[in-house]
Amino acid sequence: MGYNCVVLVKQVPDTKRITGDVMNDDGTVKRSALPAIFNPEDLNALELALRIKDKFGGHITVITMGLPAAGAILRDALYRGADEAVLITDRRCAASDTLATSYILSCAVKKIDYDIVLCGRQAIDGDTAQVGPQLAEKLSVTQITYVEELIELDGKTITIQRNIGNGWQRVRSTLPVLLTVTGDANEPRVAAAKKMMKYKNAVTPIELEMKIKAENPKADQADIEKLVEHKSGILKQAGLLIKQWNLDDIDADLAWCGQNGSPTKVHRIQSVVLAAKESKGVAPNERAISDMVHELIQDKIIA
Ligand code: FAD
Repeated sequence: MGYNCVVLVKQVPDTKRITGDVMNDDGTVKRSALPAIFNPEDLNALELALRIKDKFGGHITVITMGLPAAGAILRDALYRGADEAVLITDRRCAASDTLATSYILSCAVKKIDYDIVLCGRQAIDGDTAQVGPQLAEKLSVTQITYVEELIELDGKTITIQRNIGNGWQRVRSTLPVLLTVTGDANEPRVAAAKKMMKYKNAVTPIELEMKIKAENPKADQADIEKLVEHKSGILKQAGLLIKQWNLDDIDADLAWCGQNGSPTKVHRIQSVVLAAKESKGVAPNERAISDMVHELIQDKIIA
């Protein structure tokens, strides 16, 4: 018996590379100044889906909501073994908070026949870990968060080990189910050379249009549209046209999308700058490091 898995993936700025140079004066981050990467825990979610497919068969659809540039992580997912990818992109998604994001994603997931929906536990930019649980609510399916191991999948029953901080818990559920997967769950596989060769020219319609515009700077819009239509047909036949949906395609109610559907208001942003008095130098030897660890345990900062 095969399982249909839907994996939600997000393109994020590489927050490990944040320095003073990429900060705006108001404390926000200049996203364009940082490389865009595959949200790390979404790679763990994809790997879990791939392992389910390796063992039981089935189909993996990867979905992202984002700007046209997010096509890069969809190609990456195809290189690693996903069967199909979908980009949700629409100007009317702008200013969506987690509630609107999860609503839009739920409309897309409902278009697909699924047994298991997989999310990363948390995105490294927004950092809320809210989207997975909110999405489960909107799909009316059971959620199992903080997944660290798939114990068993037997017919319509799944058994999962989840991390609960200082220990673990085993949970059994019937399908369909939504899992949020932690970074400890597995080691994501790398892209397969054969799949890279197969999908290196796969594009979304919006990427195709941008490319054709760049190659034909003097062409008018009607000519561009004709070229896009012609090239899309060729790519589609070759299985290289990545699906792209807007809010109408997924029957989203606009009242729940973008700013209209986002009750979150950012009241204030505070930059946390560690001052010298909050840091402590430790000599680079085993004794000093061991004393430091001991002190941290005594102060209950680490366990
Ligand atoms: P988490 O909840 O930490 O993510 C958990 C998991 O959910 C991820 O690992 C992934 O599997 C899945 N997931 C999350 N986001 C996506 C996605 N987009 N596609 C597919 N899967 C996903 N962001 C913008 O880009 N543009 C804006 O204009 C914008 N405006 C905002 C306005 C407000 C008032 C607020 C509060 C936020 C805004 N954001 C905007 C940020 C946006 O709401 C979050 O990035 C988004 O809701 C995801 O939340 P998160 O990053 O905390 O994800």
